Amino acid sequence: MSHADPNCIFCKIIAGQIPAKKVYEDEDILAFHDIAPWAPVHILLIPKQHIVSMAEVTAAEAAVLGRMMTLVPTLMTQLGVSNGFRQVINTGHDGHQEVMHLHMHVMGGPRPWSRG
Ligand code: 5GP
Ligand code: ZN
Repeated sequence: MSHADPNCIFCKIIAGQIPAKKVYEDEDILAFHDIAPWAPVHILLIPKQHIVSMAEVTAAEAAVLGRMMTLVPTLMTQLGVSNGFRQVINTGHDGHQEVMHLHMHVMGGPRPWSRG
């Protein structure tokens, strides 16, 4: 698997061509801190495969998406988040998706947050 788009900023992060503060990595998934956090802790989880958005997801991605979801509580605990968190996936133009590589935002930490 793992088809990369050479023009995609998140594929470049996966390839190590752009630096990122990584928090988790395995064969299929990468998690890293958002460059412009809305909350004290704000990470992005991405499949390493270049899936454009939730609008393109098929049953073939069920396992990797399920693993992205189930990683979240462990990662939030490791990052010191103990009082809840928020998960967001933006899809397409009207969903305000800016980076066209599927990603899940996970925000946590004490309020107030700058967004969300
Ligand atoms: P979207 O609006 O597409 O759901 O969110 C894209 C997110 O990616 C934004 O929160 C933005 O701050 C983050 N982002 C964009 N470029 C980079 C980058 O080069 N590095 C990191 N770590 N985050 C990025
Ligand atoms: Zn990509």
